[in-house]
Amino acid sequence: MTVLEAHVYPGGCAATFRYQGHWFDAGATLTAGFLPGGPMQLLGRAAGVSTWPVRPLEPAMVVHLLDGPMVPRWGDERRWDVYGSLFPQSLPFWHWQERTASQLWDFALRLPELHPRRLWSLRELLGTVGQWILQARPSPRLLADLFRPVVYRLPADATFRRFIDAQLLIAAQATSHEIYALYAAAALDLPNRGVVEVAGGVGGIARTLVSTIERYGGTVLLRHEVTSIRRRGKTWEVTTNRGLTLTGDELVAALTPWGLRQIWYDAPSSFRARLTTPPKGWGAFVLYLILEDAIVPTDIALHHQVVASGPLGEGRSIFLSLSPEWDSTRAPVGRRAATMSTHTQYAQ
Ligand SMILES: Cc1cc2nc3c(=O)[nH]c(=O)nc-3n(C[C@H](O)[C@H](O)[C@H](O)COP(=O)(O)OP(=O)(O)OC[C@H]3O[C@@H](n4cnc5c(N)ncnc54)[C@H](O)[C@@H]3O)c2cc1C
Repeated sequence: MTVLEAHVYPGGCAATFRYQGHWFDAGATLTAGFLPGGPMQLLGRAAGVSTWPVRPLEPAMVVHLLDGPMVPRWGDERRWDVYGSLFPQSLPFWHWQERTASQLWDFALRLPELHPRRLWSLRELLGTVGQWILQARPSPRLLADLFRPVVYRLPADATFRRFIDAQLLIAAQATSHEIYALYAAAALDLPNRGVVEVAGGVGGIARTLVSTIERYGGTVLLRHEVTSIRRRGKTWEVTTNRGLTLTGDELVAALTPWGLRQIWYDAPSSFRARLTTPPKGWGAFVLYLILEDAIVPTDIALHHQVVASGPLGEGRSIFLSLSPEWDSTRAPVGRRAATMSTHTQYAQ
């Protein structure tokens, strides 16, 4: 197996890069999915990773509503004290959210092929759904939540709605009027799903995967941008900006469809025709900051969402993540490396 990566670091938007002796998370900073039986454990088992370089993190983050309370998002039992004291009328919502999310995770971790392309995979999908219904016994109202936005499930409290919108923006890239309830239940579950801090920054996950690939005889070539993909009979042929040409039976292109369209010259016309421009969506504006330790309060949480009033995005929802105090590989003594981002429209 050969992995071709255009950048000088592995991990893409979930990489960590070096600048003047500091290691900054490029985009993603908050890592979850490390519960026993969770996706990262499944990935580790499949890929042969015995241990990830991580330690549990609580709280997952603190949300600062500038016109409301400060809301820590604990993954443990403390979350119920927070909901009960700050938003008492929201308790039925959280019970629905957690029950629904558990059922969805149970379904997802059965790894169904959701877009079956062959008859037997359709049969397999129907079998998985049947087994899940028998075992998880989902409420028939689950089906309605697949079609209606989550705002219908929220209590009327405007501050609580603002809090949920802000959390959905960072977990699902849209707000409660736009996201159907099932997806929102899973997205809001992030703090309950094994949030961890990664030694050396989020890129530690990609670095672990690189060394695992190499240990099993694979190759990871950094600074190799794929410039063309072609089909030659039953074989794929891939060329990079360094003039390297590789052939193989299988190709996984971990790109957006628009990125793939630019380099896959003999792509079926049905694929090319559908993808002229990306759909409406968010981009990100990111700052990489070096902070003096002296200005960082002791025992402060590592991740903070700061939410101002007005339409979310464009600086009115900011996500700030600090390197852990214990991780001396991230910054020289007395300093912290921080990544701060906000959602912004592509056009900006
Ligand atoms: C600002 C920001 C904050 C985020 N915060 C979080 C967070 O806190 N938690 C979280 O879970 N997720 C977060 N995300 C989302 C997360 O980063 C992405 O979901 C994830 O990185 C997507 O991984 P990917 O491999 O699909 O794509 P990418 O991360 O985009 O990786 C694609 C890779 O392909 C390479 N590539 C592209 N074209 C070529 C080519 N032609 N040849 C060779 N290589 C090529 C790129 O260099 C890149 O390394 C955040 C994203 C952003 C932008």
